[in-house]
Amino acid sequence: MPGLLTIEEALAAILERARPLPSEVVVVARAAGRVLAESATAAADLPPFPSSAMDGFAVRASETPATLPIAFRVAAGSPSLGALPPGAVVAIATGGAVPEGADSVVPIERVSEDDGRVTIPEPVMRGAHIRPRGGDVTRGAVVVETGTWLGPAQIGALAASGVAEVRCARRPRVVVLATGSELRAPGEALEPGQIYDSNRAMIAAALAGAGGEVEQLPVVPDEESAHRDAIARGLSADVLVTSGGVSMGPHDLVRRIAGELGVEEVFWGVAVKPGKPLSFGVRGPTLVFGLPGNPVSSLVGSLLFVRPALLALQGAAEPGPDYESGRAATPLPRNAERDEFLRARRRRGDDDVLLEPVTGQESHMIVRASSADALIHVPRGVGEIVAGEAVRYLALS
Ligand code: AMP
Ligand code: MG
Repeated sequence: MPGLLTIEEALAAILERARPLPSEVVVVARAAGRVLAESATAAADLPPFPSSAMDGFAVRASETPATLPIAFRVAAGSPSLGALPPGAVVAIATGGAVPEGADSVVPIERVSEDDGRVTIPEPVMRGAHIRPRGGDVTRGAVVVETGTWLGPAQIGALAASGVAEVRCARRPRVVVLATGSELRAPGEALEPGQIYDSNRAMIAAALAGAGGEVEQLPVVPDEESAHRDAIARGLSADVLVTSGGVSMGPHDLVRRIAGELGVEEVFWGVAVKPGKPLSFGVRGPTLVFGLPGNPVSSLVGSLLFVRPALLALQGAAEPGPDYESGRAATPLPRNAERDEFLRARRRRGDDDVLLEPVTGQESHMIVRASSADALIHVPRGVGEIVAGEAVRYLALS
């Protein structure tokens, strides 16, 4: 294998080639997990009118303390019944429109009500418990910026400010295929020498939430014609992700056949453990990832490179991967040549996260890894990371 790229070099080479896809209009209720292609602005002030933050009584602060008659009652959604008459209060529910003339709301628990009159024992502060019109956002202001990944908070903000539709890059079409004559689908019987295919389902899961439309092809045996058919099919997608067959063995056909089908290899080999023989190429606008077949290598490659590529294809300002900060629970030896990712369990401390590597770090040990909820990044180098030292990690849950 020629000179290995660092993770950063490999990611830069990928992101450079992941040009944003054309955008389309998406209904906000179905836009979760997509990336905004055009800033969205508020269709209305929020709140659209001064509204009460409490169940209570709308008053003029200058008229308190006092015992005053209830002029009328306002529920959330009630149409306006007019202004607050002088020397009176208006009963109001949370979210109700504060009548003109009222400048404060006194909560129900601070008053006593008797026979249509309310006694307010303490002076009320002007403006208390009123949410001013436009206090959250004003009509026309930007609610969510271009390039933002839409999670629940952003979807809520868009809906609250009256945005019904947004422009998002279209969802990248992703084809995932697994190569290996030894592979059987879960549910089938295993003959001698066979194993279950974990990678198609796992890669699809690793990409879930990144906005792609993932299609899984049937398992591809290690034969040229089967490779040719499957890879050709995958090349019609925006992203082709293959698993297995990118090492140097006689049955490793993916790179050669992809090359014959017009894929220009951009790199092969990244200084990462597991996952070294990862290949990346392009054919026209299609990005082609060759992930090594060892399940943990495929998992690491999906999270480090394919997921960010999907987000970049949708114009994400920060395609990731999203590292989080924690501390090593035990000493972690460094690898001299390659950055390493260790499967670990998170333990929440008082003010930080401790990361404890799970036992069984070999790259085929995917089931042992299922107890892990984090991948610790151990940068290459000499010596070790000592217990308690700050490290970054990728969350698996
Ligand atoms: P390869 O990258 O094809 O040389 O495969 C490396 C190792 O990973 C071999 O032990 C394969 O049997 C195993 N492997 C390859 N693909 C898969 C898969 N889809 N699911 C589970 N194990 C796999
Ligand atoms: Mg193989």
